[in-house]
Amino acid sequence: MLKSEGPTGLLSGKRALVTGSTSGIGLATARALHTEGAEIILNGLGDADKIAALCEEMDATFNGANLLDPAAIETMMTDIGPIDILMNNAGMQHVSPVEDFPTDKWDAIIALNLTAAFHTTRLAVPAMKEAGWGRIINTASAHSLTASPFKSAYNASKHAIAGFTKTIALELAQTGVTANCISPGYVWTPLIEGQIPDTMAARGLTRDEVINDVLLAKQPTKKFVQPAEIGALAVFLCRQEAGNVTGANWSIDGGWTAE
Ligand code: NAD
Repeated sequence: MLKSEGPTGLLSGKRALVTGSTSGIGLATARALHTEGAEIILNGLGDADKIAALCEEMDATFNGANLLDPAAIETMMTDIGPIDILMNNAGMQHVSPVEDFPTDKWDAIIALNLTAAFHTTRLAVPAMKEAGWGRIINTASAHSLTASPFKSAYNASKHAIAGFTKTIALELAQTGVTANCISPGYVWTPLIEGQIPDTMAARGLTRDEVINDVLLAKQPTKKFVQPAEIGALAVFLCRQEAGNVTGANWSIDGGWTAE
């Protein structure tokens, strides 16, 4: 029999840390988890007034740890205490031919998109195991399954986080803690908008050509994925009924990786 999920919401009584939740996919997922009753801990960079408004909106707390810094991650995980749901979502992109790829950008992308998730996970797992329940959701990407040129660091980090997720799913399989990836195609967020100028330069294209011939060209639906659609999938993965869903890589990419 499934355990009761509480009187006031599917995720009542659950504490959720969503990294990179001041914007885009993480923000939409924090909102979705909050709607289901979870206590939300926001993390990310951004304008203090905007973040204060988000905290008020979701009755959330905020920890502004810079996830490029493992020591800051350790402090954050100590300060926030035990969590039930961990969404490793913060991420960054840089678009450049490999021979020109700035080495500091490579290091930062691997640190944020991959290594930060290792640190939050290793520090969150003991309390999840003790509670006999936990959900780890890693925002990977269609680029965890396939590649596009000029994104060497990003593609490497996303393929790696998919492997990391499978590994911890196996390690935690008998503990009540699941670990899955969500792999979006192109979602209209600041991360995508920010890479358009570099892609224009790298490929010699106009803005419209980048949107239609590079980005949406990949997605058979010809539509950008909506951040709220990812939030809804994350809520599903947190349900009791998803207790046997672990080690999976969930594409939400308009059919991109079906081709
Ligand atoms: P976004 O730029 O809107 O959000 C990124 C978040 O990460 C922000 O909250 C930002 O403040 C935070 N962040 C950045 N650097 C940080 C740092 N050093 N420390 C802490 N937080 C930091 O981007 P998004 O599109 O919502 O991306 C979220 C995740 O989704 C990323 O992992 C990205 O790779 C992945 N993704 C995005 C798309 C897309 O099309 N937008 C597609 C596939 C995967």
